[in-house]
Amino acid sequence: MSSRESPIAAQRARNARLTAQAEQIARADGAEHGVPELPVILLPANSRNTTELPEESRDAFLDKLRGTIAEAFLEAVRDNSASMTAEAESARADAGWALPDSIPAMPDIIGASCGTCGGECCTAGGTHGFLHADSIMRVRAQLTDDGETVTPESLEARYASYLPARHYRGSCVFHTTTGCNLPRAMRSNLCNRYVCGGLAQLTRALVSSQQTSAYVAAADSVHLRRLALVTVTGSRPITLRGL
Ligand code: SF4
Ligand code: SF4
Repeated sequence: MSSRESPIAAQRARNARLTAQAEQIARADGAEHGVPELPVILLPANSRNTTELPEESRDAFLDKLRGTIAEAFLEAVRDNSASMTAEAESARADAGWALPDSIPAMPDIIGASCGTCGGECCTAGGTHGFLHADSIMRVRAQLTDDGETVTPESLEARYASYLPARHYRGSCVFHTTTGCNLPRAMRSNLCNRYVCGGLAQLTRALVSSQQTSAYVAAADSVHLRRLALVTVTGSRPITLRGL
């Protein structure tokens, strides 16, 4: 990198280098396994280690949640006629992204791709998990619809029950090696609708190539960390030799 190179140019150069590396390994894998030419997409990579969930993180989460629940309970249980999925899809559409009609299995492809990344976006979840009052109102309304009597205490206890013993160091309190420890319906609206740039690129590449499989690479700021062939039925990890 020249000393005059801007950060954006440096990042582009880095992405191009890492993508070229991933393409080379993907082509070799394709030749070995008889896989046709597929898109190769670069995603972020979570490369943190796990640790016991610190007591202070647990307390900080519950303190904040208590305040958010109190705020959400200032209002009556809202009309919950719009499902979480419909809300998430409409928010994604507002952000210029939508699940493609041509690929019904796109949620599965996204799930397998996020698994290869390991949840880098969740590292921003800290001790809040993006759980603001609007999300808590939705969860309360859904549980009420299901016939439960929901109190601030019962809701806090329900969230507390999903706090894991171990999580990724410094990441969201719910971020574990098996993904988010919260059931999807209890996650924040933001968590349920977020799609990173790499996933948006993957979607565009699949739609334009009319494929339902892709090679997905996960990289930190310097190295490829993981590579997988992602299909509608899951993913096959590929060993990164010689990197
Ligand atoms: S949305 Fe992007 S950053 Fe987040 S887990 Fe999925 S691939 Fe990783
Ligand atoms: S609540 Fe779950 S999905 Fe949301 S940031 Fe934390 S680990 Fe990620």
